[in-house]
Amino acid sequence: MEKYYITIGLEIHAELKTQSGMFCSCANVPLEDSPNKNVCPICMAHPGTLPTLNKEAIKKMVEIGLYIGSDIADFTEWDRKHYFYPDMPKAYQLTQYKYPIVSGGSINNIPITRIHLEEDTAKSTHDQGDHTLIDFNRSGVPLMELVTDPITYDDIESAAKASSNFAKELQLILRILDASEAEMSKGQMRIEVNLSVSDDKNKYGTKVEVKNINSFKSVEDAVRFEVKRHIELIEAGRGDEIVQETRGFEENKRTTISQRKKESSDDYKYFPDPDLPKIYLHSLFNLEEIKNNLPENIELQRKNLRGIGVKEEYIELLLSNIPLSKYFNEVKKEILGHNYDKEKQEKMITLAVNYICVDVSAILQKEEKEKLVHFIDKEDFEQIVKMLYEAELSSRGAKDLITFMMTDLPYDTMLEMSENDMDAREIAEMKGLIQKNDKEALVEIVENVIANNLKQWEELQNGNDKLIMFFVGQAMKEAKGSGNPQLFTEIIKEKVK
Ligand SMILES: [Zn+2]
Repeated sequence: MEKYYITIGLEIHAELKTQSGMFCSCANVPLEDSPNKNVCPICMAHPGTLPTLNKEAIKKMVEIGLYIGSDIADFTEWDRKHYFYPDMPKAYQLTQYKYPIVSGGSINNIPITRIHLEEDTAKSTHDQGDHTLIDFNRSGVPLMELVTDPITYDDIESAAKASSNFAKELQLILRILDASEAEMSKGQMRIEVNLSVSDDKNKYGTKVEVKNINSFKSVEDAVRFEVKRHIELIEAGRGDEIVQETRGFEENKRTTISQRKKESSDDYKYFPDPDLPKIYLHSLFNLEEIKNNLPENIELQRKNLRGIGVKEEYIELLLSNIPLSKYFNEVKKEILGHNYDKEKQEKMITLAVNYICVDVSAILQKEEKEKLVHFIDKEDFEQIVKMLYEAELSSRGAKDLITFMMTDLPYDTMLEMSENDMDAREIAEMKGLIQKNDKEALVEIVENVIANNLKQWEELQNGNDKLIMFFVGQAMKEAKGSGNPQLFTEIIKEKVK
């Protein structure tokens, strides 16, 4: 097979999380159950209505731009993009053509051409027999559109992976900035792939746009399918059958099909909207202040978490789960607030991150809907981690304690405990979870167990090592789970000698 060059540019739309619409005061709830609930004459395009601007949406754009190192335009205005379709009854969409708010910057080393702001359209539902239903709840929702520079790859897999990784990283950034939920399955983030394939390094092939991509996996599959389709046509001498068009990704078949031949931007007859004011962003916002209040850079966050020994899988979990990462940071601060030596501090932080990412996160996910779940006070969580470090709590004990303190507290018990100001250690004691590390007490327990199991003891002394676990188990039972199994093992081994 000849060598092929795959060029990909991405266009990603995301609905911004704001109180109200882009050009009216309707609530921004695009997924509202009852159709046409949050609508008004402006977003339904009644003649004679005038749009107003949503400053919150513009500020979110500025935040996104500053976070990824882009330039924020000094001047911007709004343009009308004309087309006739029932989801946009005024027959034009308000968008930004010549002066996008954001330009430049990069994500995952892929340069960003521009990010502009526009209004979302109404939602059409076509599977209704001979008619189509239109819901205007989504109409006028602030929508950002990000366009990347085209990047050329020389193999299919790197093209597919780079595209989905870019989209994943953007989703994470939008969530960290609280700019968008960016849930692809809910249409809050929509990806279009612009793709061309060429056997000449210095020439682009014919560009095709693929839409209807609903997951990161579909981004990759759409790229794989489309590139193979182009290569097959080129190799069969039918390269002229590749035409500039929009294709839809078929979720079930994992293929793409032609939807329509692509309009050129001339067809939209863009021109500046005369109803909306021109904007001078540098006088509208204090950019320096916005920049200073942004969350820490995402790569820096990763680096810091790696630095304290957090596993890669937990790093991504913490970055994407904002409440969980805030909680971890509070607990971490609490640990650092005690004057433990450096080694103890580090180990306790690693323990904290593990229990937060595994146990706390699982409880939050599982119980959220049914029960009242709450984070344990950071002081108590610090205590739990300290008890773990000092082997006063077993791993099992810590899990039980965390579950109990997050979910199982009946209302009365909770009141009583808060009145008596019981802390995590006292609750652990009350529940018999504190491991006895007092060696003398444990030796006594082991001696009792031996006395009650003389036959097995003889076998163990004759070399049946498997019985060590039997004696540890019996001793744990006798200690009602509060003995330290490691210490029991040591004592039993000493006695066998
Ligand atoms: Zn409205």
